[in-house]
Amino acid sequence: MATESSLKKGTKASKSKKKTDKKKRNFTPPPPEKIDKIIAILGETHPDAKVALRFNNPLEILVATILSAQCTDERVNKVTKTLFNRYRTAQDYAEADMDELRDIIRSTGFFNQKSKYIVEMAKGLVAKFNGKVPDNMDDLITLPGVARKTANVVLSAAFGKSEGIVVDTHVKRVSFRLGLTDQTNPEKIEKDLMKIIPKDKWIFMGIALIFHGRRFCKARKPLCDDCSLSELCPSAFSF
Ligand code: SF4
Repeated sequence: MATESSLKKGTKASKSKKKTDKKKRNFTPPPPEKIDKIIAILGETHPDAKVALRFNNPLEILVATILSAQCTDERVNKVTKTLFNRYRTAQDYAEADMDELRDIIRSTGFFNQKSKYIVEMAKGLVAKFNGKVPDNMDDLITLPGVARKTANVVLSAAFGKSEGIVVDTHVKRVSFRLGLTDQTNPEKIEKDLMKIIPKDKWIFMGIALIFHGRRFCKARKPLCDDCSLSELCPSAFSF
């Protein structure tokens, strides 16, 4: 059993650990003027920055976003042409024949896991939300296979709501290189970005950073020579 003194020690220890953790984080976010410049330049560089997944309703963007993990938007759009004709409601997905569903989505990769997520997510929709996709983060992330990234895409694309910033592999990489965060965990990165980016730019920045990562700030060989942000980027030409 813990004695009062051992509890105190524990408290002291955790306090000093927190202090050490805080000390370790020697990070100063860029000032607001620099953030404004980055947002403006990204706007000029990627005037087409919007969700490229095709959908007609919240359920379709939810399914398409699940399929888009580790897959291009173009490939997902090809697959969803067939998929959305075959399955129209959450109930349809909840009752799907797994072999048939797997076959339709096979070319998006990881089709075993994705088909399970889609069916379990749809069962959750039917059981908890009367088959309707909820329009808030708290409810969305209770659905199997739906984490903050997917929920942010659905909220912004289907409902025009900003409850957070989409952090995928591109946003993670580009925001780190631009010095917008020093974190590697997506949820911590999202918190950092939400602190420094004005709320009315959250949706745009989630998409623009993805576009910038795909087109210029590539994982292996970033195209710093051609990058419109090179004068503002602490990582420019350091690869
Ligand atoms: S300058 Fe280079 S590292 Fe910085 S954002 Fe552009 S491509 Fe990425």
